Amino acid sequence: MLSHMRSCACCGRWFEPVDWLCTGCESRLFRRIEKVQVKVIHPAYSLFYLWDWRPEDRNMKTIVESLKGGRPRVAFAKIATLFYFLHPQSPQRWDAIYYPSKGTKDHAYEWAQILGQLIGCPSYPLRTMSRRKQAKLPKSERQKIQFLPQAPKGQRLLFVDDIVTSGATARGAFEALGQPKNFAVWAPFYRRLL
Ligand SMILES: [Zn+2]
Repeated sequence: MLSHMRSCACCGRWFEPVDWLCTGCESRLFRRIEKVQVKVIHPAYSLFYLWDWRPEDRNMKTIVESLKGGRPRVAFAKIATLFYFLHPQSPQRWDAIYYPSKGTKDHAYEWAQILGQLIGCPSYPLRTMSRRKQAKLPKSERQKIQFLPQAPKGQRLLFVDDIVTSGATARGAFEALGQPKNFAVWAPFYRRLL
């Protein structure tokens, strides 16, 4: 466990103070960012992200997988600080942060916690609907990712996730939160599919 915590999650090299990536891998990763990128993924809101994750990018795959492993907290703290610092809208006030949750404290939880600390707003899990409840829905609704309906805590709501691919999860959240007037999605990775 200790040795795992002290070797680089990308190249595997052993360095005394490494808690995520070694200096070389971290600077290579951070140099790939110019600014926070914006993509309109819905008529009502945009996705803000740092890295394009293309299918052929094996290096990025290793890094993303390391975030799903045992050391997300320190990694997300670094990424969130960078994200917040570079973000064009960071002075904007947000009422609440929502993150997708299966009931456990996973990578999306860590990402939401650290962003909540930076922004100074509360974060809430958005629980996915159980399969049994989903089965009761009309067929057309079942394809969507369903969240338990929850009263929004304000009008300026952020949805955060570690990876956004099709945007279906974000769309489910937007609907579950009652289509808030000001809504944005923040993720470190935008995964491009072929
Ligand atoms: Zn390394």
